[in-house]
Amino acid sequence: MNELKVTLTKNKKAKPDMKNVQFGKVFTDHMFVMEYDAEKGWYDPRIEEFHNFSICPGSAVLHYGSEIFEGMKAYRTSNGEINLFRPSENFKRMNKSATRMTLPNIDEDFALETLKKLVDIDRDWVPKEEGTSLYIRPFMFANDESISVAPISKAEFAIIMSPVANYSKNGLSPQKILIEDSDVRAVRGGTGEVKCGGNYGGAHRAELKAEEKGYNQVLWLDGVERKYIEEVGCMNVMFKIAGKVVTPELTGSILPGITRKSVLHILKDKNIHCEETKISKDDLIKAVKNNTLEEAFGCGTAAVISPIGHLFLDGVDYEINNNKIGDVSQMLYDTIVGIQRGNIEDKYKWILKV
Ligand SMILES: *Cc1c(COP(=O)(O)O)cnc(C)c1O
Repeated sequence: MNELKVTLTKNKKAKPDMKNVQFGKVFTDHMFVMEYDAEKGWYDPRIEEFHNFSICPGSAVLHYGSEIFEGMKAYRTSNGEINLFRPSENFKRMNKSATRMTLPNIDEDFALETLKKLVDIDRDWVPKEEGTSLYIRPFMFANDESISVAPISKAEFAIIMSPVANYSKNGLSPQKILIEDSDVRAVRGGTGEVKCGGNYGGAHRAELKAEEKGYNQVLWLDGVERKYIEEVGCMNVMFKIAGKVVTPELTGSILPGITRKSVLHILKDKNIHCEETKISKDDLIKAVKNNTLEEAFGCGTAAVISPIGHLFLDGVDYEINNNKIGDVSQMLYDTIVGIQRGNIEDKYKWILKV
């Protein structure tokens, strides 16, 4: 592969009001992009002005959905430095997604170096205001100029970045969650355990339905028996039942979240009993009814920890922990955010400085 080429833009955009910027709509001045060809491998890696793609209407991604992505953030520390949180995990997962979707793998070390360079170039875009961050979106898609269903021989890989305001303005506000019992997000053997665009396209309908009923997100059940809890919205989910934290084990249709992995690591380190296991909807209802469901929360890059205050199960709305954030949820949030923001010691070596 040829060397990374950097072309800085002369048209720097005005920065938005970072406290109120709407997530995902404003992009930084630069982006990274490179192309793949089965004969040449990856080529022309470059950082250049943020721009539109020009693709053939027959491009494979537009017809067969061969697209994968990642999501991570750059955080401004109180002394002005910039931290990335476990970014190599994202590129490792991206290659797993690529393999599942028969897209080409990338060189993880090269991607990491490139990312650091890109964030450094746009470092003024990493907001300083409390709770804000710069969202980073690496993605890849098949770009064969043919609508025949054939092996992928051309692809595009890019990284774009977008500032995010404080995700939850009143700190951690408990969410209202509804169990989805008709649509499913994923099935074992499908693509649920990788980050591909199609998983999201197929999930919208249930999310809209939940919103119409006054709920924030859906709790997904497994696609085969419609019995076991899998995820909440686009997050992994955890429950504290009778003093023990449980989370669905990775069965093949659940996305292995980096936040999930970090939470499990912290719980073990703090000697809080936790277990990856199968959790049925009935187990959950039983725990709510006999008052042993002490905490419930989603975990993911966007919100870090998102407490669940209401669960709608089989026609009944149950309040959890008096609609308050629980002690374990709060501790996990404080620990992870503290590490990300450089306010507590990075004892697990999760931070990469830019
Ligand atoms: C990205 C994602 C998560 C969370 O993963 P993190 O690495 O923690 O951000 C969970 N579930 C789904 C479906 C996802 O797409």
